[in-house]
Amino acid sequence: MSLILVEKKDGFVSRKLKKLGYRGIDTGEVQLENVKVPTSNLIGEIEGKGLKQILAGLELGRINVAARGVGVARASLEDSIEYAKIRKTFGKPISEHQAIQIKLAEMATKLEASRLLTEQAAKAYDSGNRSDLQAGMAKLFATETALFNSTEAMRIHGGFGYSPEYNIERYYRDAPLLAIGEGTNELQKLIIAKQLVSED
Ligand SMILES: Cc1cc2nc3c(=O)[nH]c(=O)nc-3n(C[C@H](O)[C@H](O)[C@H](O)COP(=O)(O)OP(=O)(O)OC[C@H]3O[C@@H](n4cnc5c(N)ncnc54)[C@H](O)[C@@H]3O)c2cc1C
Repeated sequence: MSLILVEKKDGFVSRKLKKLGYRGIDTGEVQLENVKVPTSNLIGEIEGKGLKQILAGLELGRINVAARGVGVARASLEDSIEYAKIRKTFGKPISEHQAIQIKLAEMATKLEASRLLTEQAAKAYDSGNRSDLQAGMAKLFATETALFNSTEAMRIHGGFGYSPEYNIERYYRDAPLLAIGEGTNELQKLIIAKQLVSED
């Protein structure tokens, strides 16, 4: 397997896809029909290095997605704390109701664990050693936390959480992609397990 750069010309067909979230960037399907590419477009100049190149990219890509998960989880928590202090029910801010406090505590704890796992994966990658175990754990946990925190944020915001008046509905739409992209979270579990039982 090798990587080769394909320029947009005859035979390169693409179509934009509509999406639930992540609307700030376009996502498209690409088809190549009888496209000819010069061998000078080979990436890295040596044939047969493609799988290694892609896997190295995925390791960093997963740390990137983990960091995006931390961002969505953090924004969900911060907006929820702010809203819980101003929204009053039964004569007091909802931040004083224990049911809301329990949600905030769980969100904050998962966020902190996600941040630490992501930092650990980034440090392992920077050290130059293989980091797919740490990257997989960070990606899995941080993106599941983004899903959890954005859902809890919507509950805390009540009806407003479901409306574009607040950012919560966007976090809720953006979070699921993180659990799918750069390898689904189901596959992250397989990657983690493979490392645990590997003989190397
Ligand atoms: C908005 C968006 C942007 C994207 N951007 C890019 C991009 O820039 N570049 C790019 O290359 N790709 C991109 N993708 C593709 C993305 O990486 C894939 O959608 C993702 O990796 C999942 O692959 P799939 O869609 O083929 O799902 P599938 O592989 O068909 O998975 C379907 C289900 O089966 C499960 N499954 C599959 N295989 C196994 C297995 N062996 N064991 C257990 N369970 C399994 C999966 O976990 C999942 O639950 C993008 C996707 C989206 C939605």
